[in-house]
Amino acid sequence: MSFNDRVRGTYQNELNGIRDAGIFKQERFIHSPQAADIDVEFPSGAKIQKVINICANNYLGLSSHPEVIKAAHEGLDTRGYGMSSVRFICGTQDIHRELEQVVTKFLGTEDTILFASCMDANAGVFEAILTADDVMISDRLVHASIIDGMRLCSAEHDTYKHSDMDHLEKKLQQYQDKRMRIIINDGVYSMDGDAAKLDEIVKLAEAYDAMVFVDDSHATGFIGKTGRGTPEKCGVMGKIDVITTTFGKALGGASGGCVSGRSELVEMCRQRARPYLFSNAMAPVIIAGVLKAFEILNQSTDLRDKLEVNAKFWRNALSEAGFILKEGDTPIVPVMLFNAKLAQDFSRDLYDEGVYATGFFFPVVAKGQARIRTQLSAGHERHHLEKALDAFVKVGKKHNILGKTKDEIIEMYGL
Ligand SMILES: *Cc1c(COP(=O)(O)O)cnc(C)c1O
Repeated sequence: MSFNDRVRGTYQNELNGIRDAGIFKQERFIHSPQAADIDVEFPSGAKIQKVINICANNYLGLSSHPEVIKAAHEGLDTRGYGMSSVRFICGTQDIHRELEQVVTKFLGTEDTILFASCMDANAGVFEAILTADDVMISDRLVHASIIDGMRLCSAEHDTYKHSDMDHLEKKLQQYQDKRMRIIINDGVYSMDGDAAKLDEIVKLAEAYDAMVFVDDSHATGFIGKTGRGTPEKCGVMGKIDVITTTFGKALGGASGGCVSGRSELVEMCRQRARPYLFSNAMAPVIIAGVLKAFEILNQSTDLRDKLEVNAKFWRNALSEAGFILKEGDTPIVPVMLFNAKLAQDFSRDLYDEGVYATGFFFPVVAKGQARIRTQLSAGHERHHLEKALDAFVKVGKKHNILGKTKDEIIEMYGL
């Protein structure tokens, strides 16, 4: 069958359905490096506008950090552009292993294995370490890449209600006959910005003989006193059996991810994880950049400290202005708008005021939970945040939502 009119029409209908539902995602073109100030073309063909970016995962401002860029240039010059091989054939340079050791030391684990992305790490890890005799018990709000990874694994799968420790305990009791139990969580949940209760989770794991898995993509580098992530924040460093994380967020934001944890589990990934065995090695230029990012973090906590101050300022300011926020103490500050169209209009109006913050709505978040997710960065100076605040207040007034309750907003705009 060729791509005939009937086939094309089927897809066009599907896409029109997405448009009609008001959930079509339109990309904005950035003409500058990723940073607090960016040059954006939106919509396509429109005049390029200077805006403040307050929705990147560039938590530590390292995406365009001069030292990271310099290190990447040097990596390019000394180790070349690409490996043209998977790791186990002829794709492992000394710097690949060096980065694995640096991550191990930073996270306080036993060993680490790199993947092309954290999505790949999550896609490979479960299948590599579990069998049909085991059970995966995951928090109901874990990241999509974890859900896909669990789908690729033959172990039984069950869930526990988000951060509900009583429910988790029941599930652990229910599966005591399994060979192995593993509790699967995000460290920080990216949509709401809340952190997993890892101290309690580790206690339950010890009581019911289970392993603990944490995806710390939204935490590595800045959560915890020295930025070691949620295990540090919760006082359980060294007690998490499997940590996955990304280099595509706080750690320079290029790409790459890893599995870090018990040495036997890491070795199982090296032998068996399909995205590791069948996908190209990370490019040397990126390895060199990530190594520099870790070097910067190992020298001082200045960046994560500045991020913490920025996040506190922003959270207080928005709250005082009368917005409804999701509670939390991470640099993810979701501004709740509930209605999908309102979230889109709000984002559009912010853009006109010089602030880039994307609206989130179903299916990225639950229906009726639409929001603008703001994310702070150590790259933000106070003047960025003050200007962004002015824009939020102006647009909030325009839509008449300041000081309003959730019910009042829903009454005005519907769900
Ligand atoms: C961003 C993210 C990922 C994906 O990371 P990539 O390296 O971009 O593939 C995985 N898990 C979580 C929790 C994330 O937030």
